[in-house]
Amino acid sequence: MIMSRYLALHPTASNSAMASKQGTIVIAGLLIIAAISIWPRDAAAEFQQVAPDLFFNYDFGGSNSAVLITDEGVLVVDTRMHPDDAELLLAEIRKRTDAPIRYVVNSQFHGDHYMGNVVFQREGAIFIAHTDTQTVIKERFQYEVETRPFAARGQDPDAVVLVLPDILFDSRMVLQLGDRTIELIYLGAGQNEGDTLVYFPHARALHTGGAFHNRSWANTSYTPSFEGWIDVLLAMKDIDADTYLPPHGPLATIEDVDAFTQFIRELTASVSAAVEEGVPLDEMLGTLVFDQYSDWRGYERRERNLTAMYEFMSTGEAQFFVPGARAAPASRER
Ligand SMILES: [Zn+2]
Repeated sequence: MIMSRYLALHPTASNSAMASKQGTIVIAGLLIIAAISIWPRDAAAEFQQVAPDLFFNYDFGGSNSAVLITDEGVLVVDTRMHPDDAELLLAEIRKRTDAPIRYVVNSQFHGDHYMGNVVFQREGAIFIAHTDTQTVIKERFQYEVETRPFAARGQDPDAVVLVLPDILFDSRMVLQLGDRTIELIYLGAGQNEGDTLVYFPHARALHTGGAFHNRSWANTSYTPSFEGWIDVLLAMKDIDADTYLPPHGPLATIEDVDAFTQFIRELTASVSAAVEEGVPLDEMLGTLVFDQYSDWRGYERRERNLTAMYEFMSTGEAQFFVPGARAAPASRER
């Protein structure tokens, strides 16, 4: 008898009706919790200190940012979802310094990380992003404005203005601000083409762009390669850091990076086994409950994420590919 890889990974698949029912109950319970806790107002965001001059704006219901404050100026990584959110971030910065905002790095093309740009443009910042990030921002801006839940957050979609990068980079860029060095690093496409890592060597801290999310069901609709994404996560470990600043989820350690790598591996192995063995999508969704990750942020996106992976692995077509996107600069052969 040939052992089914899918069944070996998910022994409950042989009783998928029951698994599906259990899954539905779990999801219904979570939806109620999500409805109560969704979009906590910004009082929920915490401006946390990572090093004497490095801060992490942690927003459970939205997206995170990083801020480096020097005497010569301020560098901001990611500007949140809406100008109103960006104003609150700027207010936190202004509690600590009057120094000019010199640089904004847009680490990825998802709208919840750059649509606050206009506030920092007003402050005179220079915007930096990976070439592929700019390509997708241009392509998807209108879609982002139309699909983000501004109404539910009491925010005006018309306040969002497209602000594109002033400077593009492809593989690596080093910035000097005051007596600090900041490195922008591209290891190839992780969650997204253009995912930019921002390294603060003095603080042994790394902002991870979209590549790593902490205890969070990262959107799996955009990667051009799950194997490539895992490669990026493994290569990230070569960067000498103790603290990881994710775009979603709390501050993290290397153990959290390993846990997320394992999460992507498990999703990839399970969905690819289902596709290879012709398991119908509905049956797979009923079986792949991933209870062990049910307390991670965004578990309510489980079905959407698994469906995107299933369709990608069935057709080879992701929701979006950057035309002519660059491979990882170090041409990491597989
Ligand atoms: Zn996001």
